[in-house]
Amino acid sequence: MAKLFAVLAVVSVVTAVTSHVEARPRRLKALVVSGQNNHNWQVSHLVLERILEQSELFDVDIALTAPAGGDMSSFKPDFSAYDVVVLDYNGDRWPAETDAAFLDYVQGGGGVVVYHAADNAFADWEEFNRIIALGGWEGRNEKSGPYCYWKDGELVLDDAAGPGGSHGAQREYVMHGRNTTHPIVKGLPTNWKHAQDEMYDRMRGPANIGTLLYTGLTDPATGGSGREEPLVFTVDYGKARIFHIMLGHCGPTAENNPAMQCAGFQTLLLRGTEWAATGKVKQRVPKDFPTATKVSMRPDYRAPEQ
Ligand code: ZN
Repeated sequence: MAKLFAVLAVVSVVTAVTSHVEARPRRLKALVVSGQNNHNWQVSHLVLERILEQSELFDVDIALTAPAGGDMSSFKPDFSAYDVVVLDYNGDRWPAETDAAFLDYVQGGGGVVVYHAADNAFADWEEFNRIIALGGWEGRNEKSGPYCYWKDGELVLDDAAGPGGSHGAQREYVMHGRNTTHPIVKGLPTNWKHAQDEMYDRMRGPANIGTLLYTGLTDPATGGSGREEPLVFTVDYGKARIFHIMLGHCGPTAENNPAMQCAGFQTLLLRGTEWAATGKVKQRVPKDFPTATKVSMRPDYRAPEQ
């Protein structure tokens, strides 16, 4: 009889352990790609990792390329092992085998986040430009596709000649919502104030925007285009789920990095990354989200308890 009790006790302990494991949701697997950039990638890729990990929604791996001009032949991340790939890369072309693996991943229904200057990359790679929809700099011009901006309640495609990609002086600015039902933005304020950041403008590309989420009005007085520019959107690219966020210019250190310390940037990054990974967003709207008149910062990149 004592033996039976012992067996039952072991069974109940095993059951308890199993049910505890099952109750905890699986974290999504994210890969941050970095290693070269005309930006401070040494800080930005670690901050992206921190934001994603601290949300407790993602397990993050990092894939760094060789330095600029270095031997890229060993850069072969296994994209297929991840729910979502976050691009923080603007540099030398990858090996042809890695390009092909990335396209296989994306075209097979993968999730991609295009973060800030990742949309400067690979101006001469046609398929990559369809994955980002809009890009800038690195020789882009009217051959890259039209300019694309918001005017009189709709997106305008403008074939005018000229360079692709510029921005005025950094400043705080108000984001203007253009959609209220997409999972990434559902429940978020239409207008909210972003912390000091660049505002990309005059971007060009195939302009295959899926859902336009937020625009911003550039300031011609500080060198901006004077147009209402698309800044946050999804990309229409087959079965893939692609989230493109032009915000988040990285500061000199993790502690002096207002654009990435903005609670609005972090919220969009987390919601957009979850959507790119799963097609859904289960996160609540955080209580520290910025308002139309008040910037909200998370210096430690951690969301408050709900
Ligand atoms: Zn920048």
